[in-house]
Amino acid sequence: MRDFTFDTLNRLLSSLKNSGYNFIPVAEAFRNPEGKYLILRHDVDARPKNSLRCAKLESRMGIRGTYYFRTVRESYDEGIIREISHLGHEIGYHYEDLAAARGDYDLAIRLFEQSLAKLRRLVPIETICMHGSPLSKYDNRKLWDKYDYGAFGISGEPYLDIDFNKVQYFTDTGRRWNGKKVSVRDRVMSGKPDGRGDKQLSRAAKGESRQNFRSTADIIKAAETGSLPPVVMITLHPQRWDNRLMPWLYELFWQNTKNAVKRFLTAP
Ligand SMILES: [Zn+2]
Repeated sequence: MRDFTFDTLNRLLSSLKNSGYNFIPVAEAFRNPEGKYLILRHDVDARPKNSLRCAKLESRMGIRGTYYFRTVRESYDEGIIREISHLGHEIGYHYEDLAAARGDYDLAIRLFEQSLAKLRRLVPIETICMHGSPLSKYDNRKLWDKYDYGAFGISGEPYLDIDFNKVQYFTDTGRRWNGKKVSVRDRVMSGKPDGRGDKQLSRAAKGESRQNFRSTADIIKAAETGSLPPVVMITLHPQRWDNRLMPWLYELFWQNTKNAVKRFLTAP
């Protein structure tokens, strides 16, 4: 069975739903939810049609999550943003302004404000989440060393406001689930980057999750046997999931190329 197809995604979400998780968008994670829940996050880096398809699939299953859109051509599609919002999902801003401004903080915050306003003309925006900008030397989260997103009516940023010592984190970054060497920026921190806490990567952040998952089938199996922890966050990049063979191979080729570049960038 090929992994990272929509059929596999369907099975993954079904198995998690059947094992009793309450699926919530990111905004709800900041309202002190209780019980067994799963924060469902999607980063729309590119190919928004795949995200629409994913959003429809989830909507049919009665589950909701958050879709983070960039404001660049590969991601931004007003019709699709509205449609996903109408399906009941949360829309958030997948910001990359510090990288776009090449480290100019004043310019970056102006770009951030403009993009946020642009999205808010379409749908309500309550949370934001950084885009990894893997090939840039700028970490977009650093914008908040100098500015406060609360001043823009934003209730939270998953990388900064979720305690990953309590939440088991899964991401399909690099088209694998345990790609700790692959993701340059997708390492989560516990605590805000206040100059002290930001170097303290949590255990999960370092990729040392308590369980080791490589394939989607491994997670499905863990869900079915009830061996996953009660609070989980999953990040999906819907452009990586495809039933058709050609886009699937294309994505595989690109992912391998990018992984090779990232390995080079992170080599000691
Ligand atoms: Zn991204």
